Amino acid sequence: MNEFYKKNVAEVLTKLNTSEDGLNDTEVEKKRAEYGFNELKEGKRKSAIQVFFEQFKDFLVLILIGAAIISMLFNNVESAVVIIVVIIINALLGTIQHIKAEQSLSSLKALSAPSSKVLRNGKKIELPSREVVVGDILFLEAGDYVSADGRIIENFSLQVNESSLTGESESVLKISDTINKDDVALGDRINMVFSGSFVTYGRAVIVVTAIGMSTEIGKIAALLESAKEKKTPLQVSLDAFGKKLAIVILVICALIFGLNIFRGNPLIESFMFAVSLAVAAIPEALSSIVTIVLALGTQKMAQENAIVRRLHAVESLGSVSVICSDKTGTLTQNKMTVKKVHVDSKVVDFDQLTKDDPLEKRLILMSLLCNDAITTNEKELGDPTEVALVNLGAFYDLDELEVRKSYPRLSELPFDSDRKMMSTVHKIGDQSIMITKGALDVLLKRCVKILKTTEPEELKEKHKKDIENINRDFSTSGLRVLAFACKDVEDGKELNLEDEKDLTFAGLIAMMDPPREESAKAVADCISAGIKPVMITGDHKITASAIAKQIGILKSESEAMEGYELDKISDEQLKEKVEQVSVYARVSPEHKIRIVRAWQEKGNVVAMTGDGVNDAPALKQSDIGVAMGITGTEVAKDAAAMVLTDDNFSTIVKSIANGRSIYANIKNSIKFLLSGNTAGIISVLYASLVALPNPFAPVHLLFINLLTDSLPAIAIGLEPHNEHVMKERPRNISEPILNKAFGIEVLVEGFLIAVCTLTAFYLGLRTGNIALASTMAFSTLCLARLFHGFNCRAKESIFRIGVFSNKYSWFAFGIGVIFLVLVLEIPFLMNIFEVEPLTSNEYYTIFGLSVLPLLLVQAYKLLFVK
Ligand code: ATP
Repeated sequence: MNEFYKKNVAEVLTKLNTSEDGLNDTEVEKKRAEYGFNELKEGKRKSAIQVFFEQFKDFLVLILIGAAIISMLFNNVESAVVIIVVIIINALLGTIQHIKAEQSLSSLKALSAPSSKVLRNGKKIELPSREVVVGDILFLEAGDYVSADGRIIENFSLQVNESSLTGESESVLKISDTINKDDVALGDRINMVFSGSFVTYGRAVIVVTAIGMSTEIGKIAALLESAKEKKTPLQVSLDAFGKKLAIVILVICALIFGLNIFRGNPLIESFMFAVSLAVAAIPEALSSIVTIVLALGTQKMAQENAIVRRLHAVESLGSVSVICSDKTGTLTQNKMTVKKVHVDSKVVDFDQLTKDDPLEKRLILMSLLCNDAITTNEKELGDPTEVALVNLGAFYDLDELEVRKSYPRLSELPFDSDRKMMSTVHKIGDQSIMITKGALDVLLKRCVKILKTTEPEELKEKHKKDIENINRDFSTSGLRVLAFACKDVEDGKELNLEDEKDLTFAGLIAMMDPPREESAKAVADCISAGIKPVMITGDHKITASAIAKQIGILKSESEAMEGYELDKISDEQLKEKVEQVSVYARVSPEHKIRIVRAWQEKGNVVAMTGDGVNDAPALKQSDIGVAMGITGTEVAKDAAAMVLTDDNFSTIVKSIANGRSIYANIKNSIKFLLSGNTAGIISVLYASLVALPNPFAPVHLLFINLLTDSLPAIAIGLEPHNEHVMKERPRNISEPILNKAFGIEVLVEGFLIAVCTLTAFYLGLRTGNIALASTMAFSTLCLARLFHGFNCRAKESIFRIGVFSNKYSWFAFGIGVIFLVLVLEIPFLMNIFEVEPLTSNEYYTIFGLSVLPLLLVQAYKLLFVK
């Protein structure tokens, strides 16, 4: 084994055939051919054949197979064949559904695959972590997942959480020096980083020493369980409901079986009938319909910039009652432009900046040095706040890379949103100077002097007042303010947090980050949907309030609160206050957890946005953690249930609308299945109780349940987004999907269809031909259920939501009708499905009775459902 920690950087680079300038494309190809892709092998995926055979494990299918065997034994080959064919078609449909759902889920996963920043062909690029090869030069910064094992070649206060490997939750401080010891334990190889850990602080450049299964985590993990989605709460409760219902139905079937025997019907016939009734009545498709509707729904959400990482999020989305959102980039455009500069005692507008003022120029120079952003002709790379400063430099004809080359960075304390500042040390002339930039309120406290055109002066109370007034003026007009300070430090000084004091104030730079155009509308939509939007930002209270007012989040100043005020109150007090606060300013990530908890304790379902590594706990605590796709760190994305590919607040609101629609669609789809099954069971139960012949042959029930039922159910699940969903209050998360009102609707609608079916049966019986009566009952039940699919599309009438707005439901209806007509008209099928030829009058009767429940329910909805 190569003990890279014992080698110095040059030796490691030679050993790996690479250099500090990284690899070029040809070298990458060679290494890829040698080592493969950087991925941990997953357990094998199930093949289509396996999925197909798994369909036969279902309890009901087993009953049916048993029934087919019994039919064979009693020489009833025809019905055995029908059962087998139906089971096979059903299994095929199930396989297609399963594969389709899996495909859409794995394409979702690919969308949120982790990425890495590497040096290739001399350029820093971002690529999927899977493509990293041994010898790559990799850049790490706070919030990144380490995608491969590597030896640190440049280190800037890197701290890494290695809990996935060592179980140790404290971050490890790394170094780049060689460790001259033998047998150093993994946790002590502090000049190395390991795949699966994540950066909590600082940054580093590393050379990749191992990828994929050769990494330390790869050795531990050996084979990963293929990532299997856990069932969502809805699926779990539907499974439980389905099981209970199955027991009730089996009891009813046993009763009917007993009655049939009692009346002297042949044993085998009675048995077959009871079995097919059980199959027809037990809604075995519930859970799989939910999976497919969720999977297709999430695919649509991905097209609308919201990638759902955990399926259960879709269900909770519909119940969200509070959205806690970042300001910068989510509610605002994150396109910052410098508007004003303050140095000495003057305030200068951007368009009035003169290129020859030495203080201004010095401030701009500082802003380029204490800065990590780069702009090229094609791209702006880095934090938009810093990009704005680089653009300001360009106005002064200063190129950031040249400036940074002339005054190289010797040491640094990276920005972190808890400290709200960052510092770097540079050699300027023969003096080492530390430059600090950050929020004024944290920086000013640490200043003792102020830069003036001549010599720096002592920073007096009056100066502080003036600076604070200027800051207030800037903030009131919604500007984001950065303060700058500096101090001389001794040569060769490695910075630590204690050094950020006794500074000399250098000036302020204020920039504009306008709200996104769509934010105000999205906030208004939220409010009308009964959802409270809350802004949580690291920015200044006045700036935040100004923006919050513009977009409608904040009505009065008293609704704004600052991080330090939060520190002063207990969780209990916060809970009392939380509903009155719409803007939290100058907060740190830990405050976010408290705010989420306070809302949750008030019984709310909370969506919370985040992007930094420190946001991960709050993202996990919230009901729906929402990470930013563009600016978010890998750690935040990993902790989130949903990732926004456009970082846009309005996308969250759209996702909630989608979540509500998907939930409503699932509910409607279940209603369709349950009410149809209820109709079948009521008809049979009634016939048995009043000693009528059985209204259906077993094959009739199988035909309806297994062939014409699932397409309309899926079509209902795909009902397009209904405006209405955002006019209602959020759904109570603890309210079960199958509540009392729902149960009553299922029963009433099932009863209605049963009455029509039995009417057809009675009309048929009047001819004295039982087989004809049965054909009429079967056709009516089948067609009425197909029509009923339209009733189940929405709570409102289809005339309100648009008769043709769901093309899938027409398609499903069409296919169902074609199947039915084929069975009723083609002699071969007529024989198999035990149907009699129908006259046109009988067809009219069937049509009239089948369409009746549709007309009645639609009339009711038009009159009473607004
Ligand atoms: P939000 O939390 O809505 O994204 P934010 O970007 O203002 O808002 P943070 O990134 O935590 O939140 O920044 C907090 C404060 O830190 C800012 O108001 C600014 O004063 C300061 N700041 C932001 N970025 C930098 C940076 N790159 N260097 C130094 N200070 C910064």
